[in-house]
Amino acid sequence: MISNPVPWPNGAKVACAITFDMDADSLVHIEHPQDSIKRVSTISMLRYGPTVGVPRILETYRRHGLKQTFFVPAWCIEQYPHAVEAMVKDGHEVGFHGYIHEAPNSLTREDEYYWMQRSIDTVVKHTGKRPRGNRSPLYNFSNHTADLLVEEKFLYDSSLMADDVPYILKTKVGELVEIPTSWATDDWPPYVHSIDLNYVMQVMAPERAMEVFLSEFEAMRQVGGGLWVGIWHPFVSGRLSRWLRVEKMIDYMLGTGEVWFATLEQIAGHILECRKNGTYVPRVEQLPYYHQPVAPKRV
Ligand SMILES: [Zn+2]
Repeated sequence: MISNPVPWPNGAKVACAITFDMDADSLVHIEHPQDSIKRVSTISMLRYGPTVGVPRILETYRRHGLKQTFFVPAWCIEQYPHAVEAMVKDGHEVGFHGYIHEAPNSLTREDEYYWMQRSIDTVVKHTGKRPRGNRSPLYNFSNHTADLLVEEKFLYDSSLMADDVPYILKTKVGELVEIPTSWATDDWPPYVHSIDLNYVMQVMAPERAMEVFLSEFEAMRQVGGGLWVGIWHPFVSGRLSRWLRVEKMIDYMLGTGEVWFATLEQIAGHILECRKNGTYVPRVEQLPYYHQPVAPKRV
């Protein structure tokens, strides 16, 4: 059912990663650049992430001995340095997630590269390490993103959705590992309701959201050689009722004895290692998909 299952370490059937995008209030400033500071309630909702969500999440990870990946816009690192220091202190990975959650596919190549380089400097200054991975804000990966990531020596991207398992993104300048995402394991559809963020959904109970997230997990586990990546946000999944349900989920996943919980950097490293020693041949996708607009013409 998965044409190219991955041989995960220790015979695990699924590689699992909970990734948190700590966007904080970058979201409202980028959505409403003229008057974001007047939207005080929304700013407060988003500040819940770095102030309440992140400490709660880190505490759970410590108890379970998990090292996971956080993607943080550089502006948020500057604004909430203590939240990021706490991630680094506990040994978690911090990846690149734009400067202030700008959409790379709305920028010129030059502007995208400027903000990428400036953000890398911020990540290095606050974590002591260059980011190895990218998640494009709101999955807004551009036709230049892969090339720029290769030029900046990134190991992987985690913004695209073209497979069940990691694959290789190939461009004219080089390659990256893609660790694919899915809206099915993103926490916005079940949970986010915000008029200011232009995203109005009926809020689901944690049990209903978990049904969707776990359906993805069980399918991967049943077939084997699969990948499960949560694309979550501290202000969303870090809320108490949701996080208590996540703790049960982590216990359940670990209890199967069939999962490898890892950072995305470790997962990408494993794929390249297997490729090198000949135990796995990842699928390759060439980017960009299109060079010209695709518009049907009347004949
Ligand atoms: Zn984000």
